[in-house]
Amino acid sequence: MGTRGRAIVGLPIETLLTELNKAFADEWLAYYQYWLGAKVAKGPMKEAVIAELTQHALDELRHAEMVAQRILQLGGTPVTSPAEWFTVTHCGYDAPTDPYVRVLVEQNITGEQCAISVYKSILELTLGKDEVTYNMALQILSDEVEHEEDLQALAEDLELMLSRA
Ligand code: FE
Ligand code: FE
Ligand code: MG
Repeated sequence: MGTRGRAIVGLPIETLLTELNKAFADEWLAYYQYWLGAKVAKGPMKEAVIAELTQHALDELRHAEMVAQRILQLGGTPVTSPAEWFTVTHCGYDAPTDPYVRVLVEQNITGEQCAISVYKSILELTLGKDEVTYNMALQILSDEVEHEEDLQALAEDLELMLSRA
């Protein structure tokens, strides 16, 4: 990273890199959870659920790219082995072992709620100290808020359909 770009970061770079690598692992795990969920999904409104999960998978992969880029700019190294994702993750991985749409949607809502907390805390950590990371976290947080909303709307539609069936 450029020397001036690094000098203006007003908190320990190592602290920031630790948090960013946790978020990076979270994004890959979220990507895979959505990607596989979209492959296995079964049940009512399957097409709508698959479309949403597929779109979210792509967003999480894009987030992984954004976070990796910032880690590299700061002179860090994105987690190099997938095995490490499980040791550094904040939000973990909830395997889509039950393919029923309602279960998949609920698992992913929980994941999004964790992601919202993660980016909220990165915003608090970087406020007034690292505007570039702050801006990135704000963009990602906006997506995660939208993801939660989309999934909760789907869950509501599923409930309505099942309760009137
Ligand atoms: Fe994400
Ligand atoms: Fe998300
Ligand atoms: Mg969506």
